[in-house]
Amino acid sequence: LLSKLPDVGTSIFSVMSQLAQEHSAINLAQGFPDYDPPQELLEDLARHATTPGHQQYAPMPGLPRLREAISHKTALLYGVPAPDPATEITITSGATEALYAVLAAVVHPGDDVLVLEPAYDLYGPAIRLQGGRPVYVPLRPTDFRPDWDQVAAALTPRTRLIMLNTPHNPSGAVLTAEDWNTLAALLENTDTLVLSDEVYEHMVFDGQPHRSALQHPQLAERSFVLSSFGKTYHATGWKVGYCVAPPALTAEVRRVHQFLTFAVHTPTQHALADVLSHADHFRELPGFYQHKRDLFAELLTDTGFELLPVAGAYFQLARYRQLSSLPDVEFARRLTAETRVAVVPVSAFYHDGHDDGLIRFCFAKRDETLQAAAERLSRL
Ligand code: PMP
Ligand code: GLN
Repeated sequence: LLSKLPDVGTSIFSVMSQLAQEHSAINLAQGFPDYDPPQELLEDLARHATTPGHQQYAPMPGLPRLREAISHKTALLYGVPAPDPATEITITSGATEALYAVLAAVVHPGDDVLVLEPAYDLYGPAIRLQGGRPVYVPLRPTDFRPDWDQVAAALTPRTRLIMLNTPHNPSGAVLTAEDWNTLAALLENTDTLVLSDEVYEHMVFDGQPHRSALQHPQLAERSFVLSSFGKTYHATGWKVGYCVAPPALTAEVRRVHQFLTFAVHTPTQHALADVLSHADHFRELPGFYQHKRDLFAELLTDTGFELLPVAGAYFQLARYRQLSSLPDVEFARRLTAETRVAVVPVSAFYHDGHDDGLIRFCFAKRDETLQAAAERLSRL
């Protein structure tokens, strides 16, 4: 068989979780919480899952009441005109499906797609599967913010799309209003579209707001903005996300979505519509995760890890050069097998395995888990 992705192995997140299991390691590798969604949400899901009449296909673009709740939340939180649930919001099987559907909808063979690296591991392969060419632009090495001069230099009439991710996985860097202004100026008079991956939208710290592409009118006109309920409700296994985009772009996403998954699990959409319409769970998230970020950093103070600043999301990057000169993949394997704390090597976020001696910890874990992990790490 002639592989379409001959150079692509198993995703680093599966590899490290498997290795963590083999060695009974504490899993700070794959990004998922070791706590559950709010109890009321679980009970509500159980109720919908056993309600006759909620067991068949949802409408292809998503349950109307869930799209309405998203529209309301978006307007309220970001101070923007409410996206039209009928024509501008599509519910997908996680942000993963939304990413794939957007790329399949807009990337033609031979198109360039700009990707800022390090980047979430599916971006490059998903672009290539459409016949597109990922054009990688490095984020600045110290603070992982975009170097807009380099972005400008990489933009050409062949650039169909630029992919951004704020808060950023794996660095936690966030884009500012100024960044969006700069991007808007660069894209003026071009046909380049924007995919803004905002799955960690509710995890921005130190009193800073999340800045969405939706808040910039000129960008909103050409943007697909993605989010994920998995992150927001501690339910990564539910795999429900969504895409907000203007009607013409949404129509293209739906052309693909209808043949990719058609629709998303009905009872889960009901439960998410309920929680979104009557609870403010997401407002507690910045404080909840800032506590974990600070606790974990404090616990690692006297270790040989040099921690990088974290403005958002639930990942902590650390330099380990004082501890080892091994390549990051090997260091991560040893940490998992010998210290029994699983982490992700940051080279997995680069198409060419670029290695700066960095690992990624996920701190979406109970305080006891973080304490137990830190205890093991402090023995290094
Ligand atoms: N984008 C980024 C940056 C992510 O970190 C993740 C979660 N791993 C996703 C997309 C995929 O989200 P979901 O689990 O909802 O498919
Ligand atoms: N987004 C998660 C992470 O970065 C993992 C998702 C996955 O395993 N596909 O760790």
